[in-house]
Amino acid sequence: MERTLAIIKPDAVAARHVGAVVERIESAGFEIRAMRLVRLSQADAEGFYAVHRERPFFGSLTAFMSSGPAVVLALEAPDAIRRWRTLMGATDPAKAEPGTIRRDFGASIEHNATHGSDAAETAAFELAYFFAGVTLAGA
Ligand code: ATP
Ligand code: MG
Repeated sequence: MERTLAIIKPDAVAARHVGAVVERIESAGFEIRAMRLVRLSQADAEGFYAVHRERPFFGSLTAFMSSGPAVVLALEAPDAIRRWRTLMGATDPAKAEPGTIRRDFGASIEHNATHGSDAAETAAFELAYFFAGVTLAGA
């Protein structure tokens, strides 16, 4: 079993796509081990995306991620990290496969509806960022 952090980003929450995204997560066979609505401060978003601090879009990305409520989830499944990224599709919704979450709900490379951890080490950091001290259901 593997765990990954998923985020339903502020654009998708504002557009009322939380239910549709959660439906896809459940249909794909992931176990939801934790889930909550968060409102990140700019500093929270900067800490979460610290690996991107040198990127030109860092300011814009962290402003977007703190622009409204987001939903954070701990997902569990065999090969969860890779499978959740496949379900999301490519970073740029215009390049994402038909039927993926970003293709269906993303508006731009920045406003792309969801986030997923990209490796075991980042998943551990990201899960702790939101769920440190929380006993994950079913664990
Ligand atoms: P995420 O980490 O959110 O799951 P990702 O791993 O597919 O997405 P990253 O390269 O880690 O993509 O970029 C993190 C986030 O930064 C993207 O999801 C997107 O919101 C934003 N982003 C990435 N590239 C750009 C860009 N060229 N311009 C603006 N925003 C970008
Ligand atoms: Mg990433």
